Amino acid sequence: MSQQHERWSPPMRDPDDDTPRLECGVFGIYDTAEASGITALGLHALQHRGQEACGIASFDGHRFHTERHMGYVGDAFGGGDLDRRLPGRQAIGHTRYSTAGGSFLRNVQPMFADLEAGGIALAHNGNLTNFLTLREQLVSEGSIFQSTSDSEAILHLIARSRRPKFLDRFTEALQQLEGGYALVAMTNKKLVGVRDPLGIRPLVLGDLNGKAVFASETCALDMIGARFVRDVEHGEMVVVDEKGLRSFRPFPAQQARPCIFEYVYFARPDSVVNGRSIYEVRKRMGRRLAQETLAGIDVDVVVPVPDSGVPAALGFAQEAGKPFEMGIIRNHYVGRTFIQPTQGERELGVRMKLAPNRAVLAGKKVLLVDDSIVRGTNSVRVVRMVREAGAKEVHLRSASPPIKWPDYYGIDMPDRGKLLAANHSVDEIARILGVDSMGYLSVEGLYGAMDTVRNNAQPQFTDHYFTGEYPTRLLDKEIAEGRNELVERQLSFLVDA
Ligand code: AMP
Repeated sequence: MSQQHERWSPPMRDPDDDTPRLECGVFGIYDTAEASGITALGLHALQHRGQEACGIASFDGHRFHTERHMGYVGDAFGGGDLDRRLPGRQAIGHTRYSTAGGSFLRNVQPMFADLEAGGIALAHNGNLTNFLTLREQLVSEGSIFQSTSDSEAILHLIARSRRPKFLDRFTEALQQLEGGYALVAMTNKKLVGVRDPLGIRPLVLGDLNGKAVFASETCALDMIGARFVRDVEHGEMVVVDEKGLRSFRPFPAQQARPCIFEYVYFARPDSVVNGRSIYEVRKRMGRRLAQETLAGIDVDVVVPVPDSGVPAALGFAQEAGKPFEMGIIRNHYVGRTFIQPTQGERELGVRMKLAPNRAVLAGKKVLLVDDSIVRGTNSVRVVRMVREAGAKEVHLRSASPPIKWPDYYGIDMPDRGKLLAANHSVDEIARILGVDSMGYLSVEGLYGAMDTVRNNAQPQFTDHYFTGEYPTRLLDKEIAEGRNELVERQLSFLVDA
């Protein structure tokens, strides 16, 4: 398929600009008939992790084949002729959404490169926090980038390594990365799955008829009938080839710190992430939320903002002893509202997606439960809609704590200026959203729902959204804000040299 070309734009250095933050799903399968068809099914189950574009790369024993498309997995790969288009017993796949870095085909994955020792295809979920720095270094030393995606930097680093063996080259590249990533890579001999040293992004290992499968979430294993074996561990590189399955630890040991937002919103409810059922955790968040925020109000019905608010609303209703009702009906034939590149489209998206169910809402004191409130665009519209449908009172509860800090590890979370809770008190938010009362889950409650107590010295999860505590350096950001003089000097030296 032909590639799209557009004007070159330099790496962004403006801290107010949205840098590429990828929400993605990855998948890979080794030594199995119809590998690309199985990959398409796996990607279909991971569609919620990215709806903008998707791609599959296969290896047929002699050659690599890749197809990358804009749009849904079903539209791109649902044709039933995949074994002809993408032949081979080995395949990896990717489903993608990005806020910036361009929604164009060059950035769509898997990315492929022909290296000295053969081809490599790479699928990456997450975001490197030192990408712009790496890119500037690589470009100044002669690398020619084909895309603005941070995943390409990984390929360049592998290509430039002088180590003789692929795994050593790959390891050397990984050791230069900073940020959150789950990678699935494929060479002519190997399938490799890697998780960043803190395990920020998820990745699981499955087994289909004795052959290894990697996927972002267990729901993709269920989809293809594979058995869940285990999570790929934080800082682990799992290599599958004719020698079998081997595990490597290319990084110094650290405590795991997976992203808590997978539990709040991102992962599918039927997935089990790092040993915890997403559905069960979300229900417990709802229960905690009721315990923390029900005092002083009387409501008739608990209504979820569908679909992501449903498990928390169920938990809330059970704890509160109030009826759970579907007061808002979701039209399933449009994508997630949030996953739209511009604010204008997002607002239209809310109207297209949700409709009030007057039979439930009219004349009632309604308590709405949503999983999270980011910009508040969705909430303003939902609250207005529920009032217009005749609700007597509207109370809003968020099953996550106030989101005050942006993300840099692969979740689309805008800069502080656009985050409602970063700029307003809870009372102000109630006024802005037009609700009779507003309540958020506490950070303690969130950890309680995870069946643990936050270790403030060494938190068990990546939870900067609520706390501002980032688990890694944010090199690009430091440079953008002019805070890292040393690197700034090094870079200007490289540019001047
Ligand atoms: P808003 O407050 O209008 O920005 O949208 C918040 C809603 O979008 C939440 O209720 C979530 O269901 C959903 N959401 C939260 N975070 C994300 C994200 N990173 N990507 C896509 N959707 C999200």
